[in-house]
Amino acid sequence: MKSVGSEHRACESPTGTRRIGRTIVTGGAGFVGSHLCEALVRAGHHVLCIDNLVTGRIENIAPLLIHPRFRFLRADVIDLPVIDGPVLRIYNLACPASPAKYQLDPIFTLRTSVLGATNLLDLAHRTGARILQASTSEVYGDPTVSPQVEEYAGSVKCWGPRACYDEGKRAAETLFHDYAMRRGVDTRVARIFNTYGPRMAPDDGRVVANFITQALNGNDLTIYGNGQQTRSFCHVDDLVAGLIALMESDLKQPAPVNLGNPAEITVAELAARIISMTEAPSRIVHRALPVDDPRRRRPDIARAKAWLGWEPKVDLEPGLRGTIAHFARAMLDEAEALFTPAEAI
Ligand code: NAD
Ligand code: UDP
Repeated sequence: MKSVGSEHRACESPTGTRRIGRTIVTGGAGFVGSHLCEALVRAGHHVLCIDNLVTGRIENIAPLLIHPRFRFLRADVIDLPVIDGPVLRIYNLACPASPAKYQLDPIFTLRTSVLGATNLLDLAHRTGARILQASTSEVYGDPTVSPQVEEYAGSVKCWGPRACYDEGKRAAETLFHDYAMRRGVDTRVARIFNTYGPRMAPDDGRVVANFITQALNGNDLTIYGNGQQTRSFCHVDDLVAGLIALMESDLKQPAPVNLGNPAEITVAELAARIISMTEAPSRIVHRALPVDDPRRRRPDIARAKAWLGWEPKVDLEPGLRGTIAHFARAMLDEAEALFTPAEAI
């Protein structure tokens, strides 16, 4: 089996004492993971990013690749190479998150959640690292309770197109709980609600990326169903702050914590807002509602406020403005790259 370098590097522990080791971020080349890697490197951590690039992109971490405190390892968490040397923290974000992407290969998605979590929990057990799981509001399925509190057990199907993701994440939470209770691993579980922001891939398939890409191209916006289903959108900067706060908190119990923005809006309102902000000539077209699409989603964040002192700061309007600007810049860069100097003459 391959093994990965054992640099012994100093890192600040939450208590302020200097300890030796790295922070591992799996899924670090993805949308959320790349922002997390950036924040951690900026804060002085040594980061090993592990990603198989199934939905992640090297361009997301390109500026970090030359940083002395950052390393990238292309690997699959299902078949994790041996990681030598001390590890202080593990953020497990590896898993396709867009329904369009995680449904492409449902068996891979389920295996990523279950085997990935097992491999990383074993690594945490061996090294004494603290480990955080990127869980999801999808563990609540199509909720019959709103807002969703952590005690709500959820309304989830163990088959159907979303099951590979929902049940995989639920099983991973079970593993995190049992490794904490039976093996003393220091675990954290973040239940992440819909998050958006710069670096979502234009072909990601999730609603914010779809609507912005469609509007900037002057295409019609595709609302699935009647658009009355709701979501609550959290800016990625807020989410990253919440993930780090959860990791660094001195929680004594392995209970999950919701991280999201409680401002709930319908998909139809989101479409109208993006059309207005981009001043696009686009109209609305309706497409079939995907099977098992949750009707409502809104986090109760009382626990995150009480335990972490965390709450989101970025409102949807400015958050969308920055995201639209990012998508517009990326489209321009792509157009410029296609427009060679020879053609320009
Ligand atoms: P993303 O698809 O952009 O990132 C996922 C990353 O994981 C990608 O870089 C991908 O290449 C990598 N990956 C997937 N399977 C892997 C495997 N088997 N081995 C190694 N790498 C693998 O998605 P995201 O939005 O950045 O989500 C990150 C995490 O947060 C995911 O675990 C997701 O379930 C969770 N989450 C995200 C949201 C959200 O709205 N963004 C909501 C709830 C939960
Ligand atoms: N959606 C939509 N049009 C799109 C993409 C998504 O109407 O082009 C809807 C989707 O049916 C869901 C909501 O937007 O009700 C959020 O979908 P997304 O894929 O972003 O994430 P989900 O919360 O379903 O995991």
